[in-house]
Amino acid sequence: MSEISQRTFPELYPSRTKIVATVGPASDSEEKLAAMIRAGVDIFRINMAHSTPEQAQPVYDRIRKVSRDVHFPVAILADLAGPKMRLGAIPGDSYECADESLIRFVRGETTTEPDSFTSTYPPLIDELEIGNRVMLADGAVALQVIEKSADVAICKIVQGGTIRSRQGINLPGANLSVKTLQPRDIENAKWAVKVGVDFVGMSFVRRAADVEELRRILLDNRPAGRKEADIPHIISKIEKPEAVEQIREIATASDGIMVARGDLGVEVDIAQIAVIQKRIIRVCQRLCKPVIVATQMLESMHHQTLPTRAETTDVANAILDGADACMLSGESAVGEYPVQAVQMMHRIAVETEKQLKRQLRRDIYDKIVTPVLQEIEATYGVEIDAFYKHIDVVTNAMCDAAVKLADDINAAVLLVASETGKTTRNLSKKRHFTMTLGASENEFALRRMNLYWGVIPVANLPTNPADRLSYVVEAGVREKYLKSGDYIVMINSIIPDSATRNVLYVHKVT
Ligand code: PGA
Ligand code: MN
Repeated sequence: MSEISQRTFPELYPSRTKIVATVGPASDSEEKLAAMIRAGVDIFRINMAHSTPEQAQPVYDRIRKVSRDVHFPVAILADLAGPKMRLGAIPGDSYECADESLIRFVRGETTTEPDSFTSTYPPLIDELEIGNRVMLADGAVALQVIEKSADVAICKIVQGGTIRSRQGINLPGANLSVKTLQPRDIENAKWAVKVGVDFVGMSFVRRAADVEELRRILLDNRPAGRKEADIPHIISKIEKPEAVEQIREIATASDGIMVARGDLGVEVDIAQIAVIQKRIIRVCQRLCKPVIVATQMLESMHHQTLPTRAETTDVANAILDGADACMLSGESAVGEYPVQAVQMMHRIAVETEKQLKRQLRRDIYDKIVTPVLQEIEATYGVEIDAFYKHIDVVTNAMCDAAVKLADDINAAVLLVASETGKTTRNLSKKRHFTMTLGASENEFALRRMNLYWGVIPVANLPTNPADRLSYVVEAGVREKYLKSGDYIVMINSIIPDSATRNVLYVHKVT
């Protein structure tokens, strides 16, 4: 069986929308990882908030092994934790915050007073200002700073609830001195580039300079012989109001974006999340950057085999908004049904894409943007033309031509050979529905295609265009996705020793 067949046929036609699944105790075994790839996972996320390089290494090795076993070049995203602030230990582990009562933040690491709390962020007391809001337990408990002295910040409980040791602290709107890249993020980033991770996630990004700093670290620490283009691609996680404000600059500096709704929903008014998600996706579409929608997508599947109606609708709406990928967090990391969660996400994607196909005609894509998106575009002043200057015009025009050609002749397969993956990334944003196979001699570029909507990365395709075509034809006829008379459109963007940048082929299966 060819590599194409292993994951694609006959078990599963992959969804066009890519699936990112977080690995954790619930999924970290060869058997579970293999089942999840078969169910549709394209990218595994290792959450570095819960692991050191030493702990992440065996997980990394296991994913790569399973990927070889099932012949699918699955990608790995190492997600750097960033400056996530946490509560220190609470005596008795939990504390009931009653509405209107007072608590205090104190210095140090431990406390014995029941209403006094410490944090993992030493300058907290110095940087809190009267009037600041402090959110605990993912936003469930809200405080306001009402009084401050040298070593204590007194807060009133605005919204009560239970808090536990080491839960997250968010300070929406506070101007913190903390650096986006913490020393342990830098160590983790060095590990990631050394071993060959495909994507790194950067949490709590605030400005484009944060992304540039991480890129420098990755470049400077790449192993000898590793090309600049083959360092991990940077996925900036949008979870701060500042980042939402600067989404264009951040997306331009990044290789991809994550709408990190978990922390974002604490840092900004939760009521705005849906609109912000649409706005971010729109910007990414314009800038030709892949975008992942994350957190609580199938939350109830932690303990249930079926999601809620609202959750299935959330996944579908993210896809209709234009998300390239949807992510599972706790559902696949610690939930009871990690494989079922992937299957469910895949099913929703496949069903939703049918609707998308009806809605999206590539040639009128820009004209059929729904009124809601047009409204957002007008409200937030997304300047369409200015964006195109960031996109390689030759690649973009080539992809437009290939998609039109494939549509007009009703091609069965679009085959794209791309050295860096840039052509496949551009192509994926056209949201066309011809089955698209991505080829690259470069293993990093090939695995990165796992983030590109609608592109199926195929390993070990012959490099010579003629051989590559006959290989695909042979596999396609055998697997029954090609028959005599079908057309294949092939973009070749790898022309060694030549000034020719791209060639477009039309091949008729005989
Ligand atoms: P996290 O990021 O799961 O690493 O916190 C995603 C989010 O905040 O939504
Ligand atoms: Mn987060």
